[in-house]
Amino acid sequence: MGTIRGLHCVTCGAAYGPNDVEYTCPSCGPRRGTLEVRYDYETLKASLDRDAFQRSGPRSQWRYLPLLPVESDAYIQPLRVGWTPLYNVSDVAARLGLSALYIKDDGQNPTASYKDRASSVVVIKAQEKNKPVVTCASTGNAASSLAGFAASTSLETVIFVPETAPEAKVAQLLVYGARVFLVKGSYDVAYDLAAEAAEAFGWYNRSAAVNPFMVEGKKTGALELAEQLNWQVPDVVFVGVGDGSVISGICKGFAELKMLGWIDRIPEVVGVQAEGSAPIAVAFAAYDGKDVWFEDIEAATVADSICVGKPRDIIKAVKYVHTHGGRYVTVSDEAILDAIIRLARETGVFAEPAGAAAYAGLLACAAAGELEGASAGVFITGNGLKDVSSARQVVGTPTIVEPSLRAIEEHLK
Ligand SMILES: [Zn+2]
Repeated sequence: MGTIRGLHCVTCGAAYGPNDVEYTCPSCGPRRGTLEVRYDYETLKASLDRDAFQRSGPRSQWRYLPLLPVESDAYIQPLRVGWTPLYNVSDVAARLGLSALYIKDDGQNPTASYKDRASSVVVIKAQEKNKPVVTCASTGNAASSLAGFAASTSLETVIFVPETAPEAKVAQLLVYGARVFLVKGSYDVAYDLAAEAAEAFGWYNRSAAVNPFMVEGKKTGALELAEQLNWQVPDVVFVGVGDGSVISGICKGFAELKMLGWIDRIPEVVGVQAEGSAPIAVAFAAYDGKDVWFEDIEAATVADSICVGKPRDIIKAVKYVHTHGGRYVTVSDEAILDAIIRLARETGVFAEPAGAAAYAGLLACAAAGELEGASAGVFITGNGLKDVSSARQVVGTPTIVEPSLRAIEEHLK
């Protein structure tokens, strides 16, 4: 079990004890005052052996329990979360001029998205804190993930998603038995409503950024990628970015591995945003290494999971990527839809638009000659079955035939 040494504000640097504050730094407020969970790294370094994970760790993210903020294994759910496949697609790498390409398929988590890594942690924290009701606002995946993991416990779930959330994600919520509110407004509006409701009714809030433990679950993708490559990390990794929490988790995961001395360098982390929803990329470009300045926008993109105009984890997403030498790129919706098809046909992995956005970023950087001879990893953060209507826009229609061989022959001509 990870022994938390404290919670640190990423803006003012204030240090709090593990139970001093619930969500964010009181001086800096919910937007700038996001908290970073810190452990006793010296003790961890002295007591942990990275090879022990490979010998005996469970085939889930709970293999990294000593690096996670849970008090015991008492509330770990039976659902298998993490330890998702990492595919080495050497023929695609060769075509793109890369030395190696690895696809991390997080669509294979229990509710089919990367968000399961965080929801599983938060469901444990809610039980440790005796909070019977958990809530969150979400573009869809975080909510269906929370509902799924809560369903495996006695917790109740109240969910706020924008009215426009894809059908499959709303269906997932209802199937898992969550109380679902479709909010008339964007994700950003739903987010504020969930925060108000959590405070008014005493619910435990899983919404991105405000809860410091989310990033802890989200870092495990980086830990797995490193371990699956025998601690030889690729030169560069790509990940889609909406609220900024997943990329912050991935950066923190690599940074902790470096602190523990288990990897010798941190990969260049490239955040990929949709052109119509890129406030973090804009803030990153303007960042001077001191204060993060940002402007909220009205976001619009086909990639619903990263359609975020008011990103809540923007401070971490800018600072962490800057500190570790990463960067941001943007891609068009057209490139995202094209990447769904290319990824599926080149690797057999079907991604939702936000997941394919990371692949679109890789393709764009490769086409620009920026990855010549590099090894690369791509985090596919959601399964394509989450949003088939977007994929259907670019795949044409199947052929309808009379049930006869002759009819087939006619069409094959
Ligand atoms: Zn602060």
